[in-house]
Amino acid sequence: MFTLPPLPYADNALDPVISANTISFHYGKHHKTYVDNLNNLVKGTDYENAPLEKIISETAGKADRAALFNNAAQTWNHTFYWNSLKANGGGKPAGKLAQMIDASFGGYDGFKKEMSATTVSQFGSGWGWLVLDAGALKIVKTGNAEVPFTKGAKPLLTIDVWEHAYYLDHQNKRAAYVDAVIDRLLNWDFATQNLG
Ligand code: MN
Repeated sequence: MFTLPPLPYADNALDPVISANTISFHYGKHHKTYVDNLNNLVKGTDYENAPLEKIISETAGKADRAALFNNAAQTWNHTFYWNSLKANGGGKPAGKLAQMIDASFGGYDGFKKEMSATTVSQFGSGWGWLVLDAGALKIVKTGNAEVPFTKGAKPLLTIDVWEHAYYLDHQNKRAAYVDAVIDRLLNWDFATQNLG
């Protein structure tokens, strides 16, 4: 059985960018429902005890496995998203990541501009990602439940831009939410850990 991992901080830790009210629905209802749906879909199948990443990789792009892919990937994406954020995060990273950001984006300002523009421009529901791809940092966006690792890129950080992620706090102002996450919440320790 898959379980909903504990939130890595208090439900009001990301306030006011992401309020406890948003967390109560986004984590407590949306994320939980993906986990519950996943458990119902794998029950009695070969995937019952499989690693989540294996289920996602093997069902990606298969129309007849869309429900399983969507719920498995959304379970994974949301756990990754909660870990991509922290109170008093954001701003310039230090160390190896700072050097990689300079090399890939010409500096932190270049990173911030592209992370914001790419993430905000995702049409409809989806995700903005900082990934490691062929040794360089890149920013990509994915629709719905799509996740970069099925195409060979290693996720380092993500920002959820489904409307449920920001509508209670920012209504239609997606850019205000994305920019505040970049400035105040991104968890560079988690990104560094994902670099491996
Ligand atoms: Mn979400």
